Amino acid sequence: MCCQTPESPKREESESKANHKRNLSSGTSDASPMRRSKRQKSSINLKELSSPEVSEAEGEVTSPPVKEEAVYAPAPVAVPNRKAKKPPVKKEATGDADSAKPVKKARKSKKDQEAEAMPLAARAQGLRMFIGAHVSAAKGVFNSIHNSHNIGGNAFALFLKSQRKWDNPALLDDHRDQFRQLCAEKGYDASKHILPHGSYLVNLAQSDTAKSKQAYASFLDDLRRCEALGISLYNFHPGSTNQTPLPEALARLASTLTQAITETTTVIPVLETMCGHGNTIGGVLSDFRDLLALIPKEHHSRIGICVDTCHSFAAGYDLASPEGFKAFLAEFDELIGIQFLKALHLNDSKAPRGSKRDLHANIGTGFLGLRAFHNVMNEPRFEGLPMVLETPIDRVPEKSTSDEDAGDGIEVEGEKKKGAKKGPKRPAGAGAATVQDPGVWAREIKLLESLIGMDPEGEEFKALEARLEEEGRAERAKYQDQYERKLEAVEKKKAKGHAKPRGQKNLMDMMKGDAKKE
Ligand SMILES: [Zn+2]
Ligand SMILES: [Zn+2]
Repeated sequence: MCCQTPESPKREESESKANHKRNLSSGTSDASPMRRSKRQKSSINLKELSSPEVSEAEGEVTSPPVKEEAVYAPAPVAVPNRKAKKPPVKKEATGDADSAKPVKKARKSKKDQEAEAMPLAARAQGLRMFIGAHVSAAKGVFNSIHNSHNIGGNAFALFLKSQRKWDNPALLDDHRDQFRQLCAEKGYDASKHILPHGSYLVNLAQSDTAKSKQAYASFLDDLRRCEALGISLYNFHPGSTNQTPLPEALARLASTLTQAITETTTVIPVLETMCGHGNTIGGVLSDFRDLLALIPKEHHSRIGICVDTCHSFAAGYDLASPEGFKAFLAEFDELIGIQFLKALHLNDSKAPRGSKRDLHANIGTGFLGLRAFHNVMNEPRFEGLPMVLETPIDRVPEKSTSDEDAGDGIEVEGEKKKGAKKGPKRPAGAGAATVQDPGVWAREIKLLESLIGMDPEGEEFKALEARLEEEGRAERAKYQDQYERKLEAVEKKKAKGHAKPRGQKNLMDMMKGDAKKE
């Protein structure tokens, strides 16, 4: 029933452990803290970074030396309402491409105009790490560029079309041209630092012929959109076995991927690591090794992997400790090859390691903690890769709703609530009136950038770490409790001699593995 791989993550970890030290000593300059480029040392007020509410309320801004413009915009811009009609992006800035159909707009106040002209955060220059967020592409893909620029992102993700609908209008030539023009204007290299996210509906490992055809058509359409936009990397979920044997599912995935590669010319499909829940493919790194073995070698340069820190941690990998992080990368290199690593999704985890729950937390507030992101930001092998935040920015006033799967559920605005049927993922705060605050991402980007070269044993880091840890304390306790109760229930069932419920076998194996590890 449960089609997990025969090997659990733990077993693989221990299998490859013997080689970790060897690999690391040759592969990574592990002992040497990353050199900072001359402009990258930031003097950002850490209190503001770690405490969004505080900085908003204070509304005051410290200008780091890396800035070319003011750092944070005044509060009114920082808290746009998702429901507001007006997109957060200005057409004026895009040139005259849309002049064919002029739209009458309400006249803006001088104050509004000033606020709009000022980004929430300026983009850091000269860093080796390219950090950004999964921003909205509502009302046209080109708007994503404004949205990323607005939060100081040097990389970003977007949906190329609605991620929860099969039928989508074609990419307009005008939107394509504006996208390309804005990339050039704003200095985004689409071939390197823009990482669209695929549809949640697409399962390329699908066994049903009709559904498989539909999934493939949507996938190929996205890849072609990438090529039209000059984008080289395209992130998508490996899919689900749908309770068929894993090798068969991997064979179907390999076959459709191979076909997609042959039907396109430059775009690199990038498979995302998953949290290993149920029949999901990609929880364990060996899934990617096995998949690659089924794809002709000549296409390997057109395949990539994106590590989602929350997913891989929830799948059981220790990305929190420096040793665990190194071991993970060594295993990645050994099983897959580090050259396949093309991108990262940076998310903390609300749920504990091994919980197999996809619950993204804000950086430093979850079970990964700030140390995990210090590992990431100081890893030389990640230089130049797009790193994308998918952390929660939806704020539900008053009572919160269930936020299971919230992190990855970033929506094309306007599509959200209408299409909120049960799919592989649900939008953050679905059904509740939420307010989006991209200022959270602006601060998280600056926070991550400030970790480059920071001494993890120093006062600055310790204070920041403690503050964020405190911020997430209640939420971590909540999910820790849920996890423990789940494990108890599993134990009880086992004791009663019941068959193990689906997906629990590995969960228990993993716990045993955890105990064995540090
Ligand atoms: Zn992700
Ligand atoms: Zn994803």
